[in-house]
Amino acid sequence: MKITNPATGTTIADLPADSPSTVRKKYERARAGQPGWAARPLRKRLEAIAAFRERIVADRETLARTLTEEVGKPIRQSRSELNGLLARLDFFLSASAKALHEQRVRADSAQKMDERITHEPLGVIANISAWNYPYFVGSNVFVPALIAGNAVLYKPSEFATLTGLHIARLFADAGVPEDVFVPVIGDAKTGAALLAQPVDGVFFTGSYATGAKIAAAAGKRMMKVQLELGGKDPVYVCDDVDVKAAAAGIADGAFYNTGQSCCSVERIYVHESIHDAFVDAFVAEVKGYRLGDPMDESTYIGAITRRPQLDVLKKQVTDAKKRGARLRTGGKIVKGKGNWFEPTVLTHVDHTMAVMRDESFGPIIGIQKVKSDADAIALMNDTEYGLTAAVYTQDPKRARALLRDINAGSVYWNCCDRVSPRLPWSGVKHSGIGLTLSTYGIQAFTRPKAWHLREA
Ligand code: NAD
Repeated sequence: MKITNPATGTTIADLPADSPSTVRKKYERARAGQPGWAARPLRKRLEAIAAFRERIVADRETLARTLTEEVGKPIRQSRSELNGLLARLDFFLSASAKALHEQRVRADSAQKMDERITHEPLGVIANISAWNYPYFVGSNVFVPALIAGNAVLYKPSEFATLTGLHIARLFADAGVPEDVFVPVIGDAKTGAALLAQPVDGVFFTGSYATGAKIAAAAGKRMMKVQLELGGKDPVYVCDDVDVKAAAAGIADGAFYNTGQSCCSVERIYVHESIHDAFVDAFVAEVKGYRLGDPMDESTYIGAITRRPQLDVLKKQVTDAKKRGARLRTGGKIVKGKGNWFEPTVLTHVDHTMAVMRDESFGPIIGIQKVKSDADAIALMNDTEYGLTAAVYTQDPKRARALLRDINAGSVYWNCCDRVSPRLPWSGVKHSGIGLTLSTYGIQAFTRPKAWHLREA
């Protein structure tokens, strides 16, 4: 399997991928290793995660550079991802004992009845992951899964393989047995071979199209299936905002990580009374973004990780222009080595255009004028997805009223493109099933077992 730097098009590694037979052997190792891991006291498993955290800190710069090299993420954003990972690890380290604690839910001395809930590990789980934030989307799954006593077969995306191998090395160094955290290397075919194993759960992060295939393959198996999928996340800018500040914050939400985030802002609706001023401020902000070598400290727009996405972006621009949109900046593939697309802003867009309906997953955004809050809500909810949505206004009551009517897993007031380890991360409709993060996202890797205990 060749690993290519998307910024230059050069091959940076050539690795053997797993075959169905090596995947099978890895599954058998994980199955054999899991009971011993689950039998360790929780305190010991948490110690291993704390040791993993120490190793991330020690290796941070190497890890950031590898990530930038293989996915094209600007180096400062790779470092931010690793710092964010530390905060997530801290949350899991502090919250897991309480979340996994045995609960006594009834103690009835008259009937001598005691009712309890324990949180049992699922067993061996498959974690099939995405490349855009490999440390975030990976750790949301494999960290609480390990803490809860599961063995994890971790298939990093084929576009973040070197990062996946770093993660496996650091877990092994931290004392997690190599039969308990097992990397599985390869692309879609390897993912399908992993899914064919009799695992106890599959935790997937990726596109809706692949998620639907995973759900179909898992259909008859009666195992836990969790899918964290794409989005078409909207923002509504009300008429009472500080236009410049809102434009700067929302542009960052749309273009950070080169727009390749599941919760990137993908559509913007602006109240007609401030629309033109907002667009001017937004375009000025975007024109200030520096596109270039992802290893350069001043780069803000990096490479497009997957080459076929260039075509998706180009088609969305062409389709929008054909249907009457105006191109305010960008709009083209950057010629030369590697995969690059100009930061792009389209106005006069509407919902007949692919750019307002389909996930762009790149540095391109449409801005649509709206007449009222009611129009904005109708448009925000007019989507197959439901991951996040944001409202910008100075009025807290107006914000709450708007956010209450939005059908999405996460809602934001005066912020966007944000994830907190303390809050559940989930989507509705084509954005997925299940959740990660928060205490619910720790218990997600367990089966609550019911104990009915009567004294004789
Ligand atoms: P993808 O669906 O192309 O691939 C995801 C993973 O699935 C990869 O590891 C891939 O090898 C594997 N895979 C592909 N086909 C498979 C099959 N038939 N069987 C088993 N495994 C298979 O997605 P991607 O390009 O890696 O990620 C981008 C997508 O992920 C975007 O849609 C983005 O919004 C979404 N995403 C969602 C979240 C979230 O938390 N909701 C987070 C990050 C990314």
